[in-house]
Amino acid sequence: MPQDQHYSFFQSVERSFDKAAAFTKWDKGILEQIKACNAVYQIKFPVRIGETVQVIEAYRVQHSHHKLPCKGGIRFSEEVNQDEVMALASLMTYKCAIVNVPFGGAKGGIKINPRNYTPFQLEAITRRYTAELVKKNFIGPGTDVPAPDYGTGEREMSWILDTYMSLRPGEIDGYGCVTGKPVSQGGVRGRTEATGLGVFYGLRELCNIKEDMDKLGLSTGIEGKRVVVQGMGNVGYHAAKYFHEAGAKVICLIEWDGAIFNENGLNPDEVLQHKKATGSINNFPGATNLNKNTDGLELECEILIPAALENVIDKHNAPNVKAKIIGEAANGPLTPEADEILNKKGVIVVPDMFLNAGGVTVSYFEWLKNLSHVRYGRLGKRFDENMNFHILQTIEDLTGKKVSEKERKFIAHGADEVDLVYSGLEETMHAALHEVRDVMISNPQIHDMRTAAYVCAINKVGAAYEQLGIFP
Ligand code: NAD
Repeated sequence: MPQDQHYSFFQSVERSFDKAAAFTKWDKGILEQIKACNAVYQIKFPVRIGETVQVIEAYRVQHSHHKLPCKGGIRFSEEVNQDEVMALASLMTYKCAIVNVPFGGAKGGIKINPRNYTPFQLEAITRRYTAELVKKNFIGPGTDVPAPDYGTGEREMSWILDTYMSLRPGEIDGYGCVTGKPVSQGGVRGRTEATGLGVFYGLRELCNIKEDMDKLGLSTGIEGKRVVVQGMGNVGYHAAKYFHEAGAKVICLIEWDGAIFNENGLNPDEVLQHKKATGSINNFPGATNLNKNTDGLELECEILIPAALENVIDKHNAPNVKAKIIGEAANGPLTPEADEILNKKGVIVVPDMFLNAGGVTVSYFEWLKNLSHVRYGRLGKRFDENMNFHILQTIEDLTGKKVSEKERKFIAHGADEVDLVYSGLEETMHAALHEVRDVMISNPQIHDMRTAAYVCAINKVGAAYEQLGIFP
């Protein structure tokens, strides 16, 4: 992994924070408090793997308690370390503030490569990790609510839920202890695709702003834009899919073991099928394999979406990046030096803490669903449909004209859970993008969206601390 060694991930976050803090009114003490990680929990526990016992290293970091519960994913990766989890937990605080999700930030990590374990072994590790969190009160619907991240998904969230519920029987809101669960286990429809869809909504809204597109010499809209996506996991696949469906050309998809290119565009669904069938995206029919997977990052394109890991663009490859817009779907994909180089080149870098907030936004909807114990749309859907039919019927009677059966169904349709989740997500991403842009417009010295996003977040968290008061 390329990296500019002298900044750790957490230091990079602090650096961006400090740069933005200069544009805010908060005094040093408050800024230090906003920046600090409130609680860091490092765990080492034994798990039997085959014939041997392995000591597993894991973390949960609660960055900010200014709003509770804390919220943030759990990643399974060999790269996990305390600095990384602290950085990711901080980003969660700022992310929640930017999209107006009333949580503090947190993050968890288990230092393993999930590919080296069987599902049975992964289950044992996940359940033991959950038990360790329960022991120290680092999980619960009102304290700290994990979610999926790199290397984890619905399956792991089910194990977490089940372990929590068996250790805390009878807790009425227990289902809200973790989000990203399967729908059958209290999950919400639309959560799986939420981050990728949020990436799409955020970038599409940006591409619709004529002023910004004019600066890049681009036309407005998504159609025809060339898109490169790194990472065909949950976030990358869904982002690629929505861009493809909206008429963009997904010209390159990058994975850990290769990258494929087709100037006419790739269909992400077909590539995913190919990856499932062959174990790799390489050798996809009609596409060219690139020599090195990282070559994909340097292709001529309008939008580059890193959706895999952090620090993939650094001072060495940043000068070669030709994209006009970089959408940070992953957390921290640019080193601070890369960020500076790209900003100087006039690239619009849409920062992670705004752009990949779709996951936490829909997690918030899932948590609300768990606390309310009712599916979205259950109460209103049929009423809305009956009312819409009635209105339509009245209009038809008054005008003497009839709509087609297809239109009738479309107009009358009452919102299902997934419709409400998508609509809430779209609204959230649009509103947050404009909040961040407004900070830039009102502060002409701020030239990049990351600084503007931090200012936005710092102001909201600072205001919360001011209202909370600080213990004497
Ligand atoms: P994932 O595990 O589903 O997918 C990651 C993908 O990246 C995998 O397909 C993996 O093979 C690929 N990959 C690994 N190393 C690579 C490399 N060197 N080059 C190219 N591809 C590589 O994880 P995810 O949930 O999609 O998360 C991806 C990123 O998005 C992470 O940075 C995560 O923190 C961030 N994120 C995820 C969510 C979410 O809801 N899942 C929310 C916010 C942010």
